[in-house]
Amino acid sequence: MSRLDIFTKNKATSIEEELTRGVVRDWANDIVIPMRRQYDEDWKDHKIIEPAFKALMVDLNFQMALFPEEFGGLGSGESDNLATQSCWMFEELARADSGMAVAYGVCTWPIVMIAVKPHINKRLCAEFAPMFLNEDRPVFSALTMTEPQGGSDIENLDLLHGRTIKTTATLDGDEWVINGHKLWPSNTGGLADLMGVVCTTKPGSDDEKDMAFIFVPADTPGVTQGKPYEKTGMATDKNSDVWFENVRVPSWYRAHGPGLDAQYFREVVTLGMLSASFATGVMMNVYEILYDFCSEKTLNNKPLKEHDAIAAELAEIVAGIEASRAAVYRVAEILDRPDLYGPRWSPEIGARARLMKMFVSDRSLKDCEKAMEILAAYGADRQWDIEKHWRDLKIIQLWEGGKQLCQMEGARYFFDCKTL
Ligand SMILES: Cc1cc2nc3c(=O)[nH]c(=O)nc-3n(C[C@H](O)[C@H](O)[C@H](O)COP(=O)(O)OP(=O)(O)OC[C@H]3O[C@@H](n4cnc5c(N)ncnc54)[C@H](O)[C@@H]3O)c2cc1C
Repeated sequence: MSRLDIFTKNKATSIEEELTRGVVRDWANDIVIPMRRQYDEDWKDHKIIEPAFKALMVDLNFQMALFPEEFGGLGSGESDNLATQSCWMFEELARADSGMAVAYGVCTWPIVMIAVKPHINKRLCAEFAPMFLNEDRPVFSALTMTEPQGGSDIENLDLLHGRTIKTTATLDGDEWVINGHKLWPSNTGGLADLMGVVCTTKPGSDDEKDMAFIFVPADTPGVTQGKPYEKTGMATDKNSDVWFENVRVPSWYRAHGPGLDAQYFREVVTLGMLSASFATGVMMNVYEILYDFCSEKTLNNKPLKEHDAIAAELAEIVAGIEASRAAVYRVAEILDRPDLYGPRWSPEIGARARLMKMFVSDRSLKDCEKAMEILAAYGADRQWDIEKHWRDLKIIQLWEGGKQLCQMEGARYFFDCKTL
């Protein structure tokens, strides 16, 4: 019986959920949690981080999760609960190390474009699945969208429709020629094997038919990954610049074609909001740490948790976890039931998912700060891991356009704004 079962186990819990959580929780307890304090120093080389990825992605076969079974995958992209099962997995990963949740999540992220129903591109699945299947090392994908002039604008499709994208794709015979400069994609810094590149076929155009999503194997001539950035946390997620200089790929490496690339890219962005489940996973570990600390530490001969002022703060923290998890799984359900709520790429679902991510990241960050206060000096002590989680939660708030784009897209939909 794990302390976490208080959140994750009841009579309604499916066997599928129990199995997924069980496998990832064992991996986390045995391999990641004992080592995670050393990961910060391994940000550049990933010498001790890499074996943990191998155990997850190769030994447990999770790098094949999304691909259809006919291509050797686990078929999650064809399941009816992709969003929900992703959140189970992300929570368990992030409880141990949220950088690993990012790295793993982004491995599957560009693959969503081609391996998730109702828009499976079988030709591209057949082309790329063997890259992941035939390896006994972790194989990483990257989704390259952010550019030096601003990442948020590229994701702000309903306002800008791809107008600010500077990375170009030009058709030359039966090949795309790609030129551009991307920043920050997870799993770069030399790690990525396959990239999904967000680009434009007509710079400055706000016709979404000109936005293209093209797959580029990272060893294609003209692709350069820079050195990994040194961040405040999440060392297990490597990020760097990526340059594309006259990179040539076959024309059919474009995911779906004019109009549909932009449509399914919206879905990819919205699914990215499920990264809120990284925050709930982190907070589940904060709960475990708090439970032990407040039960063992005494003040005036009584356990800390038996003091009114502390118990009140503990209640606030679990209220945050409970409400955040309810919000995450509500949006996951919406994403899993297009028959009830409409397509995952609609502006409505995008807005709801963004508001959920904004709420959950804000609240988790505040609650983690409260946990640090309760631990007092131990809160700043790396031994206790709370400060690691606090640093990581701040990062979760920043990606995909940060808090502000969540606010703008939420206000735009709910208040029918005309200029945002
Ligand atoms: C750990 C990590 C992982 C990442 N992974 C990836 C990845 O896998 N792929 C990838 O392409 N990128 C990735 N990014 C980049 C990230 O998505 C961008 O940093 C983010 O979208 C913001 O873009 P920007 O940094 O260019 O800031 P800008 O877009 O320049 O934004 C600057 C500020 O303006 C605010 N803002 C945005 N829109 C509006 C608006 N409409 N009105 C008012 N203010 C606004 C922003 O919130 C921000 O505060 C990652 C970043 C981090 C930290």
